[in-house]
Amino acid sequence: MSKHFQLNGNYVRYEFSEFGGKFTPVNYDMPIPTGSEVLLKVDFCGVCHSDVHVHEGYYGLGQGRKLDLGERGIKLPVTLGHEVVGTVVSMGEEVKEVSVGQQKLIYPWIGCGECSVCQRGEENLCTKPGSLGVFKPGGYSEYILVPHQRYLESLGSLNPANASLLACSGLTTFSAIKKIQPVHNEEFVVVIGCGGLGQLAIKTLVLSGIENVIAVDVSEEKREIAKSSGAKSAFDPRDEKIVEVVTEAGKGNCIAVLDFVGNDQTMEFGLGVLRKGGKFVAVGLHGGEIRYPIPFLVTKAISIIGSYTGTLGEMKELVEFANKHDLVNIPVEIRPLEQAESAVEDLSAGRVPGRIILKNG
Ligand SMILES: [Zn+2]
Ligand SMILES: [Zn+2]
Repeated sequence: MSKHFQLNGNYVRYEFSEFGGKFTPVNYDMPIPTGSEVLLKVDFCGVCHSDVHVHEGYYGLGQGRKLDLGERGIKLPVTLGHEVVGTVVSMGEEVKEVSVGQQKLIYPWIGCGECSVCQRGEENLCTKPGSLGVFKPGGYSEYILVPHQRYLESLGSLNPANASLLACSGLTTFSAIKKIQPVHNEEFVVVIGCGGLGQLAIKTLVLSGIENVIAVDVSEEKREIAKSSGAKSAFDPRDEKIVEVVTEAGKGNCIAVLDFVGNDQTMEFGLGVLRKGGKFVAVGLHGGEIRYPIPFLVTKAISIIGSYTGTLGEMKELVEFANKHDLVNIPVEIRPLEQAESAVEDLSAGRVPGRIILKNG
């Protein structure tokens, strides 16, 4: 038996039943949560660039090759949406720590919950992922079922619409930054790609006390925003001497590169500016390959680190950090949930200057 009131009737998910295909509103019976499950009404759901990739059904691997997401276990139909803030409406009998009416941020990077990786709290690295909005129905929906209360985080004083982006964009940048720490006062960090994630990274770095930040982006507008977010300097990567220019700006002391683009050129550039002992953190999924001389990797003691989302513990830490520093006070565009398809299309076509957040009801 579930606690509290049962919702009857149907609810709508905006799903697609073939990769690249149309989004269709589909009616489902309202789920009745059992055991540890919690049912939430979706309030807000961020539209993320990885939604574009999942909808397309692949990631580019360079030289025209593709990583097929269907073969990676994503089952159709798919209801996207992994940046969700919702309100608890009902729950299974084992749920003790949340109550009806509470508004929560949902941690979506759920694993099997049983393997040693999950037990250590690194569910985002589980080999049997059950991520919401990827492998399980996500927030492009009126309601969402979450398997356990531990995935629900209180918002504190955060604006609920903006807080949704902490579940992916925020968490991804936060976790990437944790991987480069400690950064000492005299050292520099280079941020490649100053779109949504890059801007959030610059803000997070500066608020964490890492002030020597160099931004790199092809867009002059984004370089200006990067500087107003706290970057010491900003450069256009199309400059032929960009490696020398950035190395000089970083006084030969670039200890870390955060790459939010992730293609052959950004890899080559980023690895080129690192000093000995430097760390290259790849976050962007544009697609391509790493080509880097192994003798440099060894003799310069370079680390190349991939970073994908983050842990539940990191999300809790991030929510606290965001509350303390007003991190998500950034411009967003709110659209009705029914416009999920055009939101993904606009993001895919690069027609979106900031973040789109879908609002249900
Ligand atoms: Zn697991
Ligand atoms: Zn995302």
